[in-house]
Amino acid sequence: MSDWEKVIAFHGHPCCLLAVGYRAAKLALERLGAGGSAHGLVAVVENRTCAADAVQVLTGCTFGKRSFIFKDSGKYVFTFARAGERQALRISLKAGVLTKEGEDFVALMEKVANGEATEEEHREFYRRQEPLMRYILEGPAEEIFEVQAVDSIIPLPELCLQVVTCSRCGEEVMKDHAIVLQDGSLGCKDCAGQRQDD
Ligand SMILES: [Zn+2]
Ligand SMILES: [Zn+2]
Repeated sequence: MSDWEKVIAFHGHPCCLLAVGYRAAKLALERLGAGGSAHGLVAVVENRTCAADAVQVLTGCTFGKRSFIFKDSGKYVFTFARAGERQALRISLKAGVLTKEGEDFVALMEKVANGEATEEEHREFYRRQEPLMRYILEGPAEEIFEVQAVDSIIPLPELCLQVVTCSRCGEEVMKDHAIVLQDGSLGCKDCAGQRQDD
């Protein structure tokens, strides 16, 4: 099974955004000299699209290991670093790549992704996405991505495993997530969001 096939198997379908994440992760592994072993790599992904799945499969950076960090900026930007190292690699998709097939193609992609496309729109989408997907996978990297070495340490989010029991719902909540409820007791965010007297 090729790496691209592995990524498709995990994600469920081949698509342009999966290809974006795949290519970005491949570039990162090449430049950071991972040589197949992705141990100690941390990724910051700035969008919640299909691309994120490819990054996780190829680099081994996952949400559960805390080595996959989501930054909600709505950009096709991927930053990779070895844990604790000062140099990071920032890979951003160049403007115009996703709209190469036309603005209407992106609108179509959105409809498909949101489950709002008709049968006919689906067929049109799969026909039109093929050349763009190939281009993202195989085109010249310098046309597709801006790659910069940046001076930044990506810290792994700290894990707090000690818990307190919420005084309202009785569920345990990690200490660093517990908050003081109106009556002064410790509780969870769900309960803090509810009226205290109901
Ligand atoms: Zn997808
Ligand atoms: Zn609670």
